[in-house]
Amino acid sequence: MSGPILQIALPSPLRRLFDYRAPAGLRLDDLQVGLRVSVPFGNRQMVGVIAAISDQSSVPVGKLKRASELIDHSPLLPDSLWKLCSWTASYYQHGLGDTLSSALPVLLRRGEPAMARQDMLWQLLPGAYPEHPAISRAPKQKEAVQTLSRHPHGLSHALISQWGLTRDALESLERKGLAQRIHQSPHHTSEPQPLLKETPLSPNGEQQAALDAITAGDGFHAWLLEGVTGSGKTEVYLQAIQHCLQQQRQALVLIPEIGLTPQTLERFRRRFSVPVVILHSGLNDRERLDAWIAARDGEAGIVIGTRSAIFTPLARPGLIIVDEEHDLSYKQQEGLRYNARDLAVYRAHLEQVGLILGSATPSFESLHNVQRGRYQRLRLTQRAGNASPPTIQCLDIRSRPLEGGMSRPLIQLMGEHLRRGNQVLVFINRRGFAPTLMCHDCGWMAECRRCDARMTLHQSPAQLHCHHCGSQRAVDRCCPKCQSQDLRPIGAGTERTEEHLTECFPDFPILRIDRDTMARKQAMQSMLARIQSGAPCVLVGTQMLAKGHHFPDVTLVAILDADGGLFSADFRGPERMAQLIIQVAGRAGRANKPGQVLIQTHMAEHQLLLDLTEHDYDRFAERELAGRAAAQLPPYSFMALLRAESNSSAQTNQFLDEACTLAEQLIASLDIADVELLGPVPSPMERRAGRYRAQLLVQAGQRSILHQLLHHWLAALEQHPLARRVRWSIDVDPLDMF
Ligand code: ADP
Ligand code: ZN
Ligand code: ZN
Repeated sequence: MSGPILQIALPSPLRRLFDYRAPAGLRLDDLQVGLRVSVPFGNRQMVGVIAAISDQSSVPVGKLKRASELIDHSPLLPDSLWKLCSWTASYYQHGLGDTLSSALPVLLRRGEPAMARQDMLWQLLPGAYPEHPAISRAPKQKEAVQTLSRHPHGLSHALISQWGLTRDALESLERKGLAQRIHQSPHHTSEPQPLLKETPLSPNGEQQAALDAITAGDGFHAWLLEGVTGSGKTEVYLQAIQHCLQQQRQALVLIPEIGLTPQTLERFRRRFSVPVVILHSGLNDRERLDAWIAARDGEAGIVIGTRSAIFTPLARPGLIIVDEEHDLSYKQQEGLRYNARDLAVYRAHLEQVGLILGSATPSFESLHNVQRGRYQRLRLTQRAGNASPPTIQCLDIRSRPLEGGMSRPLIQLMGEHLRRGNQVLVFINRRGFAPTLMCHDCGWMAECRRCDARMTLHQSPAQLHCHHCGSQRAVDRCCPKCQSQDLRPIGAGTERTEEHLTECFPDFPILRIDRDTMARKQAMQSMLARIQSGAPCVLVGTQMLAKGHHFPDVTLVAILDADGGLFSADFRGPERMAQLIIQVAGRAGRANKPGQVLIQTHMAEHQLLLDLTEHDYDRFAERELAGRAAAQLPPYSFMALLRAESNSSAQTNQFLDEACTLAEQLIASLDIADVELLGPVPSPMERRAGRYRAQLLVQAGQRSILHQLLHHWLAALEQHPLARRVRWSIDVDPLDMF
């Protein structure tokens, strides 16, 4: 025998492990699953993780390469996280190596030691004092002793020069036995402090009932905290975390987008004295690793982060919270297409801890889990404090002229709110000036040359942009088809709305908030500061405005176009539309000023809108869910979407046709029922960035059957000769069907 064979997970798109011989000179006891190793791969070195140790390989031993060296001496991940990653890889049909790569901080992927940067501190030893005879002739050392005596917990080495000390002097003190160096992580807190830095609000009846339920639980339990915007969900999170910290456990909080919610994050730091680590995109690789380690080693009491934070290991997990659980950003849309909300459920189960899913507009998946008794629903129906809910009304715009996307009555109403000293928020889901540029004489429309899509007209600077592939070009001066010069922008985007508002309300600031104006760092912060000052103004913006913010002085929210979502080709269109309207509406009247919401629509009698005007998301959801059940759509069935794209539509289609045949054969040979193959069909936007796209949907009545098929199918697809010429991916539980 040739010694143990290591099966190594490497960051490769292939769904398989790679066999290597163990590094020279190591005994079997030195090897463990979960250790990182560096291995030769092609003509370079790669870092992988030992996924299994075996005594045989399908590769002849003589051909097996030897792993170069072990990087870790103990497994990188706690057992539960290793299980989470393995489960994620198999559930989403992704390679384990690539899954681990998504889960780990960059520096660990590159083979850095899994240790925090140590802050080195200098500290006096007992018996050191300025008049000590050993330093009577060394003024620098004397001074150093004086300075250190004022820092009983140690003085950071990084700061010594700022205190006028030198390394030489400190090292001399060390040799004389008067000072020592100590190491500790940057997240270390030296003295035990009272847990709370501020007094919690006293919970109202509903909050108390929710907290009683949550804190009574032990082991795994999932709660759906359904609370209208402003009902005090965050306060419930804070007090549930307090309970968790009192048990010496850690809390993990997932939020949709960090840049947009600085105020909420501040509330966690203001409340608790424990270290709070926030995993945000502004961290450099080193800071990210330090935060990861502070979480893994139990130094961080609270870990807050977006989607990928679900993979942060915790030494003493106690509670997982997913805020705005319906938010689409929890689903990764490329590579490893996981849903962090769903992984949170699995993880809470694995770690046997409580899970709170919070939302004003729960996803249908979660509501379905309540119906099935898997989650317990906790409701907060009243706004906390004195705030009352906004009134929601539809404004029928049939046959009314629109300017900048707005009707006359709306403009009038806005004027009234502004003159009373209040703020107005205008929501429009398109950025740019106009979604289309059209020839008034022949009907030609500006289209993207690389996509099956229209170009959006932008005004400052004047250009045509494709929002799908990012290409840009100069605005046509005349129609390329009929040479007419009468080219007109059709419809309105944020720029055009802003322009028209500036004409209507020259005396009030108009603040536009979209991806174009917020591209600069800090732009959002300074905009928020202006809004928080409370002076009357109009905010015009996209989705960005809908999330998480508190705008206490906004009394009118206008939704310019609600019709798009009502007749979407995606069966989730109405769910998304309702969630969006309620989220946007929730920005209004949060303090003591009553709020009003106006929805412009051509379909004022639509049932969805009627439900929303009565604040009845639950009734809307129940009706929609019944429709989904009747049509056997998720959450009553399970889907996976095989997407493919290539430079030639023939090749894309051939790959999917053959994939479809393969699947049919497998369904027959595995003898499974209740699975349907829908397609292949061209994607709704067939050509994007010059590539031809198509898709094949697999739908099954049972999750286990779907996975059984996927497992065999993907193994076969990977071997397919076309699989290397077509770019393809599998999306399990797709949220976006296009
Ligand atoms: P949500 O997260 O549901 O939007 P928040 O927790 O942010 O709601 O609460 C909304 C507002 O109500 C905040 O200003 C908060 O300080 C306040 N609030 C929450 N709970 C209470 C309470 N029990 N008593 C008084 N004010 C509260
Ligand atoms: Zn023309
Ligand atoms: Zn394009």
